[in-house]
Amino acid sequence: MTQAGRRVRLLASVLAALAVGCSSRGRSPGGNAGRTIVEASPRAVMGTECVLKAVVPADRVGEARAALKRAEQALRRLEAVMSVHLADSALSRFNAAPARREIRLPAELTDLLRRAASFTELSGGAFDVTCGPVVRLWKRCAKAGRQPSEEELRQATARVGMRHLSITERGVTKLVAGVFVDLGAIAKGCGVDRAVEVLRGSPAVVGAMVNVGGDLRCFGTKPDGGSWRVGVQHPFREALCGALVLRDAAVATSGDYRRFVVIAGRRYSHIVDPRTGRPVEATHSVTVVSLPTAGKAPSATDADAWATTLSVMGPKGLALLEGRSDLEALIITGTPARPEVHMTDGFRRLLAPGTGINLE
Ligand code: ADP
Ligand code: MG
Repeated sequence: MTQAGRRVRLLASVLAALAVGCSSRGRSPGGNAGRTIVEASPRAVMGTECVLKAVVPADRVGEARAALKRAEQALRRLEAVMSVHLADSALSRFNAAPARREIRLPAELTDLLRRAASFTELSGGAFDVTCGPVVRLWKRCAKAGRQPSEEELRQATARVGMRHLSITERGVTKLVAGVFVDLGAIAKGCGVDRAVEVLRGSPAVVGAMVNVGGDLRCFGTKPDGGSWRVGVQHPFREALCGALVLRDAAVATSGDYRRFVVIAGRRYSHIVDPRTGRPVEATHSVTVVSLPTAGKAPSATDADAWATTLSVMGPKGLALLEGRSDLEALIITGTPARPEVHMTDGFRRLLAPGTGINLE
């Protein structure tokens, strides 16, 4: 009757499966002669599919391989710190700790918690990595084939809130018992940024694409000098509904079609509104693009957090992006029969020339 659902999509579950020219050698009049793309698909990174691509001069393939290996190691190191699925991660140790005890955490974890806190503030609580008790309650109830009771929801949401954490240079303290931090909405983006930084640090790498479970970032060009093409997954069926053409950018997608629980035949999103404790219902898919601005590189961490934030806030959340040149977004609401598309003007301009979002 009840089952935890996790659909692994073969077709473009990973956004940017469309990144064209995957293993081609390129030669173009634009001065990109003799460049090649080297690819790695390390298994089980952050519990999902992962594809890393580096564009290098054809005679520097060895350097590309080494850089890809270092990027993979950076991803795995981050996972070892931030995963709630690994019992000995720093985050799991924190989650298991009692209230009022200051826990020293690796700086990268403390930094990400601070960043998460800024999203909570910005979103009025729509984004909150302390939503762990609520997420776990829904998973537990789904296993038992029932909905959580009002009392259970009340108890779980009482433990949700960044105000229950004290974050200082020395460490992080739970101010009440039962706080549980879940970085699922931001850690993949953070990992993508790390991996890209590693690739950028390799002098041989002139372009790259890092994709961890659909959260991705690219820079430079493909071997033929062309832009990266990134597919947008159709929220209602196994297909793409659009294509983005990008150079230096990060993209993240949150959707209720990829991960969810089923209770009494009904699907519930894995994204919750931390304020009510209830799964998001109206927003089926959100794609956020982070673009470079003066002095700031694109951020997959931002794109990831914003995709979750806008999933909770819905189309009205787009108002938060007005006047920002670093973020563009697409939100799909409605029903399969009557889908509704909401997007920023800048998002429309990133779509492949002459195309739109096609939800047929
Ligand atoms: P995905 O992991 O499918 O790419 P998201 O980036 O949106 O999707 O992350 C969803 C995960 O984040 C959930 O599985 C849960 O662990 C956590 N989460 C759910 N709702 C929220 C929220 N409102 N704020 C922060 N984290 C959330
Ligand atoms: Mg996210």
